[in-house]
Amino acid sequence: MAQLQNIEAKILDSHFIDGQRSQFADAKPSQSAKKPHKFQWELNRQLQTSLDINDILNIFFDGIQKEFHCAQLIYENKAANFNTTLGERSARHSCNYQIEIANEPLGKLCFTRLQRFSESDLHYLEELLCLLVYPLRNALLYRDALQKAMHDPLTGALNRAALDTMLDKEIDLAHRHENSLSVLMIDVDHFKNINDNYGHSVGDQVLRMLVDKLKNQIRTSDVLFRYGGEEFTIILSNTSSAGANLLAQRVRCGIEEMIYQHQETALKFTISIGMATLVENEVAKELLDRADEALYSAKKLGRNCVIQS
Ligand code: GH3
Ligand code: MG
Ligand code: MG
Repeated sequence: MAQLQNIEAKILDSHFIDGQRSQFADAKPSQSAKKPHKFQWELNRQLQTSLDINDILNIFFDGIQKEFHCAQLIYENKAANFNTTLGERSARHSCNYQIEIANEPLGKLCFTRLQRFSESDLHYLEELLCLLVYPLRNALLYRDALQKAMHDPLTGALNRAALDTMLDKEIDLAHRHENSLSVLMIDVDHFKNINDNYGHSVGDQVLRMLVDKLKNQIRTSDVLFRYGGEEFTIILSNTSSAGANLLAQRVRCGIEEMIYQHQETALKFTISIGMATLVENEVAKELLDRADEALYSAKKLGRNCVIQS
């Protein structure tokens, strides 16, 4: 049986831009490194057509097969919390690349196949990897920007923009498959007192703690959003009004038990919840308005309670 070949290499873009070899190999650049042929132009063109990491990796993986056989490509980027595996498992021979641009890590790529990787194979693979580096970096930047645009920086919860996008999709799915769907509108009771008595930074920390607590109270299929200020929304997919009511009561009790220790003082909180379950032909705004009206009733009825629309 052939020996497993495992080469660790670090791709530094400046080396490639200059047409020089990367660190692990010391051979001279091949002709094609200086003068890309038609296949490389075409791959390069295709890699410019998307900003999605999965698309970019698929285009690269499919594209290189024409000239460079590879059974599997594994991409891992711990900082971006992203990994994917393309192709079929074939772990006999592998080569690994740690990719970075100007000390900015872009993740690790592992290529595997049954045949051994010769020195010239690796040389050629590196040339092709040059085409991937910048599209991959752009896709990572785009993903990061999207994530930031969808999250509230204070609490890390999804924000209102994310709610608008996701609720439309969930409602569409629920209508199409005739599934139930409920939403909870949550407002922290007398939150202004916290800011007034202990300052805004304590208020901020309490909001963070509330989000952690809310996340712990809900199921993995439920999605929490910061609607704004001290108001939160939870989308409960596949959940009837009876199920939503149970969950809402659980969430309310969970917050009631929460303690925020501020110096010698144990601060306690309550929330009011308005709940609505999707009805036929209803759109997102109508559903949220009903949940909001129920929340308003919960406030009027003395707070720390759940009211169903
Ligand atoms: P109610 O029971 O009627 O909801 O009373 P409330 O005091 O919670 O309601 P009100 O709307 O009067 O006040 C909401 C407060 O939430 C006022 C605002 O300063 C505070 N708040 C909103 N967003 C933030 C934030 O990001 N950080 C902090 N510290 N406070 C915030
Ligand atoms: Mg409010
Ligand atoms: Mg409030």
